[in-house]
Amino acid sequence: MANALKKTFWIACIAGLLPSLSNAQSSMTIFEDVRIFDGTTLTAKMNVAVEGNKITQISSQPITATADAVHIAGNGQTLMPGLIDAHWHTFMVRPTMAQASLAPLTFITLLAGAEAESTLLRGFTSVRDLGGPAFGLKLAIDNGVIKGPRIWPSGAMISQTGGHGDFRMLSEIPSTPDQLSYPERVGISAIADSPDEVRKRTREQLLQGASQIKLTGGGGVSSPYGPLDTVQLSVDEIHAAVEAAANWGTYVTVHAYTPEAIRNAIKAGAKVIEHGQLADDATAKLMAESGTWWSLQPFLADENANQLPDAAGQARAAQVFAGTDNAYRLAKKYGVKVAFGTDILFDANLAARQGSQLSTMTRWYTPAEVLKMATADNAQLLALSDRRNPYPGKLGVVEVGALADLLLVNGDPIADIGLLADPGKNLTVIMKDGQIVKNKLASQ
Ligand SMILES: [Zn+2]
Repeated sequence: MANALKKTFWIACIAGLLPSLSNAQSSMTIFEDVRIFDGTTLTAKMNVAVEGNKITQISSQPITATADAVHIAGNGQTLMPGLIDAHWHTFMVRPTMAQASLAPLTFITLLAGAEAESTLLRGFTSVRDLGGPAFGLKLAIDNGVIKGPRIWPSGAMISQTGGHGDFRMLSEIPSTPDQLSYPERVGISAIADSPDEVRKRTREQLLQGASQIKLTGGGGVSSPYGPLDTVQLSVDEIHAAVEAAANWGTYVTVHAYTPEAIRNAIKAGAKVIEHGQLADDATAKLMAESGTWWSLQPFLADENANQLPDAAGQARAAQVFAGTDNAYRLAKKYGVKVAFGTDILFDANLAARQGSQLSTMTRWYTPAEVLKMATADNAQLLALSDRRNPYPGKLGVVEVGALADLLLVNGDPIADIGLLADPGKNLTVIMKDGQIVKNKLASQ
């Protein structure tokens, strides 16, 4: 009986039959007299109509409104696409590191739900989740149970024994055959030590709705085992995941800092490298030539740095910070496709500063380039999910036919990208999927 119920539930979910609890909204919204960020500059004042979940008209002339249309008087404010964070962990942002491993999963899930609303209210309308049990959270958001961004979930990050995604206690080693550790049971990570195991773990994530697969191909900053210099997973193991993902019409992204780990991932057919701050010239060139995306974060020893609990972690972080300037320089030199992401972990205060990382990016790019990277470019990266893309349609642009994820900014974010660091004050309207989730003008 329980199984039959479970099956019915999942079929209902897959068919999208769960009732939507979202508030019914007017079918048409018109943004009047807005200057549009077009990826390069701001246009002259325009009117933009949204019907359903799409942008349907953009015109310098008045738009004929339906009787129940919502009018938003832009008065020259900037209309730009919703922001996209390409490296996010919906379940690891709010809890402290200790809570993440010790507190009940129900608590962590509720924290993730609260954080999802905060994320959306910072103007991030889409996130690519790179490890964690985000499937249920995504379902709750998509069905209007709670507010949050669109989520491209990876499910559990797949790691070798002792790899970046191995969060077991030392007392659990050696592992007991057929007994999963807590992080594996709840879907934070999956340990796999052969091509067959990687293939199986990959298929388990795809079964649950993963839009891409995340592997850990080398050491990391926040991981307890596997020093930064280590190469993790063999080319054959990574390739097993690449093949299983491709059979489902999607791709593999690999966490890798060092040249050797990056080269392994590319050789195996991975389409995206996460981090890569320690890349060298030859590796950056290979990334450009192979068309591999570089999902890079502005990791620096600044006020936005993730806090590490011990000296060893801080030393690893320092090594990565030292590589960040060089990584962006190499990406520009060789013309690698770069995505913007923050990878904020275990700190609600750092999360509140998510938008300020766009300002950090102006160390290497013009503000317009940064805004385009966090919108149109990141949307191209999301589209790599292809047949497993949970939200087909055009994102990251203000164009007729595009999905209506929109921000109305009180000011010019090209002249002052710092406006996005204070979304509570400067984001006048936030729209996701054609629905207004915030409208400061409505109360005036
Ligand atoms: Zn990460």
